[in-house]
Amino acid sequence: MKFETRAIHTGQSADPTTGAVIPPLYLSTTYQQESPGVHKGYEYSRSQNPTRESLEACLASLEGGAACAAFSSGLAATNALLQMLRPGDGFVAGHDLYGGTFRLLHSVFEPWGLEVARAESAKPEAYERALSSLQRPRMVWLESPTNPLIDLVDIRAVSDAAHRYNAQVVVDNTFATPYLQQPLALGADYALHSTTKYLGGHSDVIGGAVVARTEELLEPVRYLQNTAGLIPGPLDCYLVQRGLKTLAVRMDRHCANAMQLAEALCEMKGLSRVIYPGLPDHPDHALAKRQMRAFGGMIAIELADGFEAAKAFCTKVRIFSLAESLGGVESLCSHPPSMTHASVPAADRRARGISDGLVRLSVGIEDADDLVADIRQAL
Ligand SMILES: *Cc1c(COP(=O)(O)O)cnc(C)c1O
Repeated sequence: MKFETRAIHTGQSADPTTGAVIPPLYLSTTYQQESPGVHKGYEYSRSQNPTRESLEACLASLEGGAACAAFSSGLAATNALLQMLRPGDGFVAGHDLYGGTFRLLHSVFEPWGLEVARAESAKPEAYERALSSLQRPRMVWLESPTNPLIDLVDIRAVSDAAHRYNAQVVVDNTFATPYLQQPLALGADYALHSTTKYLGGHSDVIGGAVVARTEELLEPVRYLQNTAGLIPGPLDCYLVQRGLKTLAVRMDRHCANAMQLAEALCEMKGLSRVIYPGLPDHPDHALAKRQMRAFGGMIAIELADGFEAAKAFCTKVRIFSLAESLGGVESLCSHPPSMTHASVPAADRRARGISDGLVRLSVGIEDADDLVADIRQAL
C-alpha cells in the first residue's frame, strides 16, 4: 500500500466489540489477568498500551522501518537514544542541531562521560573528520534540513562513512517528515521525530518517536522507554495519530505554499537573502532534489537592515504569528537571534551564519496569496 493509505489504516482497524471505526482511547493503567501471568499481552500501561501501539505501528510503516517507540516529547526520544551509550563512547554531533539537543548533550551527557565531536560543516568530509577524531565512535547524529539555516546533509554519504567506523546513524527527521524524506532507506539506523511539529500538525500536542531500521535496533530503545518511563499518554498518542492521517495532504500544501512564497520573497525589497532548498540558487538544491520528495515548509529570510528591522517585521505580520515551534497548519515566524539562539554568543552566531536580521518562517497551509500579502505589508 502507498504512504497515504498506510497513514490512515496501518495500526488501526474498527473496534471488534462495537464496530466503532475509530478505536477507543485506552486510558486504563492496568489490565485484568485470568490467572497470575495469564493475560492478553497487556499488564500495565507504562509497558504496553493499545493506543500507543497503534501509533507506533503506523509511524514505523510510514518511515519504512521495522519498529517504533513513541515518547512524551522529541527530547525524551533523544534522551533514550543517548542513554544507550556508555561513558567513554564517542558521539558525532551534526554541524547544526536543534538547541535542546545541544543543551542535553552539553549539560547532561558530556559531564556523564560522553565524548562529543562536532562536524564543522554540513559536508560528509566534516562528519568523517569528526568520526576519526574519536577514540570509540559509536553514534552520529544529524538533522536535514537544519534549523534555522535550512542546510542539507547528504544522509547516504554520512551513513556510509559512519558505518565504516561501526557507528550508528540517527537522523532527526522532524523538519522533513517521512512523507518528504526516508532516512532509513538512505542508510540511517534510526529516524527520530519531535511529533510536536508536522506529524501532530496542529500545535496542540507534545510528543516524540524513534523508528529503527530493524527490530533488534529498537530493542534497547524500547527497554528505556519502559524502564525510564519516557512514555506519552494515550490522548497524546491519539492526537499524533490523527495528525498522521492528513500528513500527506498537509505537506503537499506546506510545500506548495512555501515555494510560492519563496519565489515572491525573491522579488521583495528589504531582504538580503532568501533561503529555501526549492530555489535553484540554494547551494543544496541538487541534493534536496535527490534526497527529498519536495522541499518542505521552512524558509529563512535575512532582513537587510539587521536586528531592529527583523524585530519590527516580526511585530507587523498579521497572519504569521510570532512564536517558537513549527510544522502546524498555521504560519509562524521567529527571530532566532533573540529567541531560539539567544543563548548562543553573538560572535558564535555570526560565525554560524545566523545574522541579526535572520527570520525563520514556518509556512502554514492558509491561502498562499494571503501569506504573500502579509509578508509584503510587514516588510
Ligand atoms: C522541536 C524539535 C525537537 C524537540 O522536540 P520536543 O517535542 O520539543 O521535545 C527536536 N528536534 C527538532 C528538529 C525540533 O524541531
